[in-house]
Amino acid sequence: MSPAWSFAIARLLGVLAVAVVVGFFLGQVELTVVAVLAGYLALTFVRLYRIERWLRRRRTESPPDLQGVWGDIVALIMRIYRRKQFHKRRIVQLFREFRRMTSAMPDGVVVLGTDREILWFNRNAGRLLRLRRKVDFGQRIDNLIRHPDFARYVALGDNSMPVVVRASLDSDVHLALQMVAYGSQQLLLVRDVTRQVRLESMRKDFVANASHELRSPLTVITGYVDTLADDPGVDLMWRGPLEEMRRQAERMRAVVDGLIELSRLESTSGEAGQDLIDVGGMLTLIRRESLALDRHPADITLTLASDAKLLGSEPEVHSIFANLVSNAIKYTPPEGRVDIRWQVDGDGAHFSVADTGVGIAKEHIPRLTERFYRVDPSRARTTGGSGLGLAIVKHALQRHGASLAIESAEGVGSTFTCHFPAQRVVARTPLAANG
Ligand code: ADP
Repeated sequence: MSPAWSFAIARLLGVLAVAVVVGFFLGQVELTVVAVLAGYLALTFVRLYRIERWLRRRRTESPPDLQGVWGDIVALIMRIYRRKQFHKRRIVQLFREFRRMTSAMPDGVVVLGTDREILWFNRNAGRLLRLRRKVDFGQRIDNLIRHPDFARYVALGDNSMPVVVRASLDSDVHLALQMVAYGSQQLLLVRDVTRQVRLESMRKDFVANASHELRSPLTVITGYVDTLADDPGVDLMWRGPLEEMRRQAERMRAVVDGLIELSRLESTSGEAGQDLIDVGGMLTLIRRESLALDRHPADITLTLASDAKLLGSEPEVHSIFANLVSNAIKYTPPEGRVDIRWQVDGDGAHFSVADTGVGIAKEHIPRLTERFYRVDPSRARTTGGSGLGLAIVKHALQRHGASLAIESAEGVGSTFTCHFPAQRVVARTPLAANG
């Protein structure tokens, strides 16, 4: 018990004792005690009233000057009040700093609720997405950003990468939008990537133009080198160098052609066309062409497990199939085998090329579709590959909504499988459910 309480109790008992003694002399003990208790109660009420009045006006009035328990209570209230004021000031200061920080951020930030409704956004998000304070609060973000790519991105739910969209139809401002989930809410990060998109498009134009410009002189050089290499009148000493020149010119032609094809794929936006492709016929031809090569594995089999056709761009699908088959042949020794397979199931159509060739170590697999990525650059010089084949395959597959799966073990062989979505498959019988 605090000293103030002990003192208050002692004082009350003392006053009561005095009241009893005085009452005894007056011959009115009860009355005197009641009168003293009534006075004590009245004093308590006055103190309570002063405290209550001060609590209501504590902003402008200083605390009442009370002693004892009441003084302790006032001091306690003052302490709690000061602590609350301190925390409030800190929170307000933190909030102001947060606001200053978010408005200084070059990126836009939108805080979204569980239904993707806008709860808050910073100045840059307002500027980039043309959001209006108050009016747009509570609106669903997908109702305000009405871009098909963004709708697809939101529906897909894979937010590991941002999606780049045009800010509006009439502007060339490009925005990278990325959703970041936290708890049950989400943040939408908005970044102006117009400069990067412009640079990327300049790079693509440069590569496309440079490749086109290189093609004609290369054709002339290749023509002369071919003529000289086949000319029996040329000195024997020149045969070796001419053969090497022919090989290297062929490599250069493959690189230039690859770059032109990649540029074309990159510059054609949207989904691939809808030609009805006779996959069986196309693969039979590719197999026959492969068998006609000077060097190829002894066994090249083709299994057409389905006569389903594919809806897509014929040259692009041919390029996908031919590139994968040509790689399998290039990286498989003559005693090995290559199995080409076309089948459909409930998930769609699947084209696979399995070989018993050199295989690929695990760490290289994720990078194979990068341009000019080669597992063994010195081997590439002899096989004459452009290093662009798989990059072309990946791009062309993306345009068909398809994906590439690579399984491989070093020294055992590799299997490259293309998965085409069911919407692109035209089968005589409906696709059976998988499994
Ligand atoms: P390249 O023209 O060099 O073949 P690609 O883009 O087609 O270029 O392939 C990239 C790299 O992937 C190749 O250099 C090779 O190392 C590896 N690769 C592709 N296909 C196979 C395969 N069937 N077996 C082993 N390695 C392969």
